[in-house]
Amino acid sequence: MKVHVADHPLITHKLTVLRDEKTDSPTFRHLVEEIVMLLAYEATRDVKTQSVKVKTPVAMANGELLSKPKPVVVPILRAGLGMLEGMSKLIPSAEVGFLGMVRDEKTLKATTYANRLPEDLTGRQCYILDPMLATGGTLVAAIEFLLAKGATDITAICILAAPEGIAVLEKAFSSSALQLKLVTGALDERLNEKGYIVPGLGDAGDRLYGVV
Ligand code: URA
Repeated sequence: MKVHVADHPLITHKLTVLRDEKTDSPTFRHLVEEIVMLLAYEATRDVKTQSVKVKTPVAMANGELLSKPKPVVVPILRAGLGMLEGMSKLIPSAEVGFLGMVRDEKTLKATTYANRLPEDLTGRQCYILDPMLATGGTLVAAIEFLLAKGATDITAICILAAPEGIAVLEKAFSSSALQLKLVTGALDERLNEKGYIVPGLGDAGDRLYGVV
């Protein structure tokens, strides 16, 4: 697995405000959108394009446009939804699928409760949006779901990641032919006994949408 940890002062600045417990939900949502746009820039570095020619007002020019089939963006409900706006701004023509996954707070195991994805993901570049790579359970389950639909090229975009989660992903997919990439805003210290990232930012879903 290729891991890219963002190393940019603007991302670090925005992450610092995001982490602050005093940051309210509207500001939090706005910051997530901005951070995702910056992370998506790196995450889509290998997005497939095809050569085209366009006529400018002056002359013909060689260019590149996104290839078909277009990439598929897969936000993991609920918190991944907060990342969709930023991703859609960067690749408005991408298709969007949804995966509803819930983590059992006792066992920390993830199960799927909803899915709206193309039946066949063969040849599609897939971008999973999940803000917090904590134990890795949710992301492993989501990636397995996409693999079962034929995906072979998957990039996960996370706002924060824990070393434990990265290790779990690496172990789960080390022997598969999957091209897996992780792009994260920061690599934090560790997980606490409740599976929260330390120092982290708390529950991303609650901070985005409030406690319901
Ligand atoms: N999910 C969250 O929202 N926060 C964490 O710290 C870990 C998992």
